[in-house]
Amino acid sequence: MTECAEADCEREAAVELHIPWDANRTVCTAHARVWSQKDGVVPEPLDEFDAEFR
Ligand SMILES: [Zn+2]
Repeated sequence: MTECAEADCEREAAVELHIPWDANRTVCTAHARVWSQKDGVVPEPLDEFDAEFR
């Protein structure tokens, strides 16, 4: 599994964030919700990634 990119967060990353002013990062659903409030950030679920591991 991929861990959330946020510091001190050990949940599984489930969403890739496209951040206009920074590199893309993968985060858990909770952090994706926080990030998606920011202007210009586009969250993209990692469904394809998950499917490969089931
Ligand atoms: Zn997180």
